[in-house]
Amino acid sequence: MANREIREKVAVFPASFDPLTNGHLDIVERALGIFDRLFLAVAFNIEKEGTFSKDERIAMLRSVFGDEPRIEVTAFDNLTVDFAMEIGAKVIIRGLRAMSDFEYEFEMALMNKHLYPEVETVFMMASQKYLYVSSSRLKELVRLGRTVDAFVPEIVAKKLHERLGRVKPA
Ligand code: ADP
Repeated sequence: MANREIREKVAVFPASFDPLTNGHLDIVERALGIFDRLFLAVAFNIEKEGTFSKDERIAMLRSVFGDEPRIEVTAFDNLTVDFAMEIGAKVIIRGLRAMSDFEYEFEMALMNKHLYPEVETVFMMASQKYLYVSSSRLKELVRLGRTVDAFVPEIVAKKLHERLGRVKPA
């Protein structure tokens, strides 16, 4: 056991984060219990503008995680594995909510393994209370006049209501 090389365990959590929800936040907190450094990587498609711009999504993530020195927030528009290679991450973190996530995630993990065999995808089961939380569902609720304060950090709730709410703030 002597002379065992001490290496930082770096993981990347790629997601659209459009916007960040408490479901993502739960995965981030649990990942920090296992890995030394965590990159929150905003997956950004230049041809498909989301509800929030790349910079808005990054700003929300930074305002929520700004005090955590082990987290780095960034965006990427290349393949997740290429990005993982660039930053020296050997682990890709993903969350699993239901069987409906499973098929897509399984295929993606196998393709990533083919492209970059050294990388492992680590799946975390969604916590029970966030099983039904997704960015798209929350956006729909806000569009239809409901609040989503129970499911997102305060700053995100504010931005969602400003962007999509029926009653625009004064
Ligand atoms: P996309 O796959 O379009 O980037 P998301 O940003 O919502 O969609 O999801 C990215 C990752 O975060 C996925 O692995 C997804 O399973 C996970 N995730 C999203 N919402 C939750 C949640 N409520 N609980 C656990 N994991 C979640």
